[in-house]
Amino acid sequence: MNVLQVSAECYPAVKKGGLGDVVGSLPKYLNKLGINTSVVVPKYDLPWFQDHEFEDIYESSANMGPERFYFKIERAKADPLTFPFYAVDIQGRFDRPGVYIDPITGFPYWDEFERFLSFQIAVLEWVLHNDAKPDVIHCHDHHTGMIPFMMTKSFRYGDLESIPTVITVHNAEYQGTHSARKAHLLPEFDWNDYGMLDWNSQFNCLASAIKTAWRVTTVSPSYMEELKFSSSGLEELFRKESGKSQGILNGIDSSVWDPSTDSFIAKNYKVDSVEEGKRENKKVLCESFGLNPELPTFAFIGRLAREKGADLLPDLISDFIHEKEEVNFVVLGSGDSELERLFTNMKDRHTGFFNTHLGYNEKLSHQIYAGADCMVMPSRVEPCGLNQMYAMKYGTMPVVRAVGGLKDTVIDVDKGGTGIQFKDFNLLDSMHALRRALERYRDPKTFNETRKRMMRLNFSWKNSAKEYRKLYQQLTKTKGQM
Ligand code: ADP
Repeated sequence: MNVLQVSAECYPAVKKGGLGDVVGSLPKYLNKLGINTSVVVPKYDLPWFQDHEFEDIYESSANMGPERFYFKIERAKADPLTFPFYAVDIQGRFDRPGVYIDPITGFPYWDEFERFLSFQIAVLEWVLHNDAKPDVIHCHDHHTGMIPFMMTKSFRYGDLESIPTVITVHNAEYQGTHSARKAHLLPEFDWNDYGMLDWNSQFNCLASAIKTAWRVTTVSPSYMEELKFSSSGLEELFRKESGKSQGILNGIDSSVWDPSTDSFIAKNYKVDSVEEGKRENKKVLCESFGLNPELPTFAFIGRLAREKGADLLPDLISDFIHEKEEVNFVVLGSGDSELERLFTNMKDRHTGFFNTHLGYNEKLSHQIYAGADCMVMPSRVEPCGLNQMYAMKYGTMPVVRAVGGLKDTVIDVDKGGTGIQFKDFNLLDSMHALRRALERYRDPKTFNETRKRMMRLNFSWKNSAKEYRKLYQQLTKTKGQM
């Protein structure tokens, strides 16, 4: 079976968050299970694309409303990602250094819809004209959400209608809503079908994908349930489409995230050398941030966004440091400019106890997973969350709010698990959780035992990839019956 994954991100070529990790790793595990999986992304003007050689596979032009645009489908030579990896080159749209946000202005690109629509049209043109058709087209998030609609409603792609589509919702907070006028840019369709593009009187790319894809998945079972009651306006739609929806927990790529082989960290370690490994890595981490490596070290990595509960952090960290005066806190992240300003000020207020790197730094993130004692995740919403799984793989105790994927992956130490959970999103509960983590840390023998237990947990993609395989198999069988 051949599956084509269509995505805006794929690690290591392009990653802005968990989507990149998932699309960069799931295909490896699907290929091991005998599903021939390839990935196609836009060809951004990013270092990875400049540093790798591509060969031309298909070249053509297509219409997007009144505009005719040219595109090239290119394949990375020698499969550096281990699976076939394609990039769509569209001059004038993706030959820019930002993925979603223009690094010069700090705002999303003005033509977000046109950029990703041209990408999706180019992918469908390629599929339409290629003799070898995929058996399933798997789309990810709203940037690829027009594909299921175009495959079922645009006259031009009528021949693709029988190819099953899957939409995976990695984050329902971002839906790709646009003015209804933008629908005129889509390849011609019967306007009686406009309802398939609309939700709550808005042209909504994610809602359209949920309506028109053959199947809908989200990245954890708990998130799937939560979406039915809280999904920024899509609740009723998720409830309505629950018959074709399921939650499949993300896994982690052990060829990238393994402290015994990770080339980004100062000292490699395994379960039986975790004590020494953590000590060495903590030393390097703390020294680079001007912190005392003898102190318990807490960390946060992630987007500085409301969803991640990042707005709780300044008060939480300040109170925690004031109360204890013997803890370190490190923040790696970027996002909300007001939060970035607050964190910068906190460096002066808590010198020697708090430090931050504001920006995106893949290598540093690995060193933090390896060097920190506890990873704090006070998320308001967490579709799956990978940080807590990486943390546990590196023997770092997660302190998490019990929501979405965090609820599915972190079991509280009081229930025989390996992390700390708290329920309500507020300062009191999160502070209490940090105190509980600190108490555990202060009992080195049990803390080390817990570390060993968490490192042995299996968060591999193996099981989840089997669920995707099952889903694809069901879909191709259904297709045969149509
Ligand atoms: P998201 O909702 O942002 O996708 P996930 O938990 O699913 O959250 O995935 C986050 C991924 O992005 C993890 O691999 C994490 O290590 C990484 N990450 C987030 N922020 C940064 C950053 N500032 N620097 C490096 N890596 C980051």
